[in-house]
Amino acid sequence: MTTDLEQFHEDLARHRRGLSERIVTLDGVDYAPGFGPYVHFQNRVDNMVSNMINPVVVCDVDLTVVDTLVPYLQWFKDHSGQNFPIHRGVGEYDWNPIFAEYGVDAHAFWKQTDLYDGLQPVPHCVEFLTNLVSKGATLIFASHCYQEHEKSKYEFLRRFFDHVPFEFASLKAKWLLRYDVLIDDNPAVIGLAAARNSGVHLMRTTTPNIGYDERAAGITRFSCWSDL
Ligand SMILES: [Mg+2]
Repeated sequence: MTTDLEQFHEDLARHRRGLSERIVTLDGVDYAPGFGPYVHFQNRVDNMVSNMINPVVVCDVDLTVVDTLVPYLQWFKDHSGQNFPIHRGVGEYDWNPIFAEYGVDAHAFWKQTDLYDGLQPVPHCVEFLTNLVSKGATLIFASHCYQEHEKSKYEFLRRFFDHVPFEFASLKAKWLLRYDVLIDDNPAVIGLAAARNSGVHLMRTTTPNIGYDERAAGITRFSCWSDL
């Protein structure tokens, strides 16, 4: 019997195969996007949560709220003297082995204690989440942290979301949390979560390694927060 999770991996693999040649440039960085044409979900999330009473919204941070990809690629360039071989990153969520081949310690990037100190949230994210909280949602940021950068990440959130109450959960296994809405960029996290839990699953896809057809598992995929 095919389980939801197996189906997810099948769908993911199938989608990736069709993505390998596609490269575009966004904000000066080469991406091989898995998101295809932009899909607009005007008012869709409002409709999804309008009949929920005080929904719990669990939101990832890296590549969902903040673009840590561009600094990550810059880190690679600064330490290897060349651009990241983006074509090799397509279809792979974990780029650490590729970094290692070029003698770059990817973990050292994530171990910077001031990693988030100069970063900004991606456009329209603060407004979107603030709007949900104003309608009664409980907001929990859930993020896989290196111990070294955890404080910097939390302070980043405090800086930009201090006007709303929120919780911060430093963990990777977000699918274990109770939530009504889960927002994440990692297809493995969203896939595991959607296979186990009901609720609204929103997947932000801006990275070159993402390829997934959200219709297969009831996952809503978006690129820009203003599309939600
Ligand atoms: Mg993430």
